[in-house]
Amino acid sequence: MVEIAVRRQDKAKCGICGRPLDRPDDPLSLDCGGDCWGCIGEIEGDPEDGYPPAIRKVQREIALGLRPPFACLRPTGGPDED
Ligand SMILES: [Zn+2]
Repeated sequence: MVEIAVRRQDKAKCGICGRPLDRPDDPLSLDCGGDCWGCIGEIEGDPEDGYPPAIRKVQREIALGLRPPFACLRPTGGPDED
């Protein structure tokens, strides 16, 4: 019940993960049409199927530690994956 009440009070949350959108302290909370960049970036930043600009942005965010690496896309992980 508490969670529902909070959601109704917030003006904007990601439709996928529920992250509050457009928070200045959260670079992945950028509003991408109702979903956060954190979620959209996982789709558009897909190294195989995404858009090159988004892929570069996502890779930079991963390098900076802003975004966790794609576990599903990089099953081996590790710093020497390339
Ligand atoms: Zn999200």
